[in-house]
Amino acid sequence: MKSKSLIVILAYDILVLAVFAALAYFFSHWWIVLFSILFMCFPKTIPMHCRICDSCGTRSVSAETKELALERALKAGWYHNNSTDTDFCPKCRHEKNAEY
Ligand SMILES: [Zn+2]
Repeated sequence: MKSKSLIVILAYDILVLAVFAALAYFFSHWWIVLFSILFMCFPKTIPMHCRICDSCGTRSVSAETKELALERALKAGWYHNNSTDTDFCPKCRHEKNAEY
C-alpha cells in the first residue's frame, strides 16, 4: 500500500514536470521547468517517524520508518510498552521507576 501511494506521487510529479517542460518548450525558456518543483509533492512527502513520550511529550530521534524510529528510541534508553503502545523518554522512565 505504501509503495502504491509512492507510485501515485511519482506519477503526479512526472505529470507536473511534463506540463512545465511543455510550457518551457512553448516559451523557449528552460528555467520555467524549475517552477515545477513548487508543485511537486515528492519533496514534502518524505515520511519521518518518531516516538513521542506519553508523559512529557518529548520527541525521540526521527527515522524513515516507524519500526526504525522505535528501534532508535529503545537504543537511546526509551521505554516502550507493546500491549498499551505507550512510550516514555529516559527521563520520565526513571521518574516512573522511582514512583513504583
Ligand atoms: Zn518524557
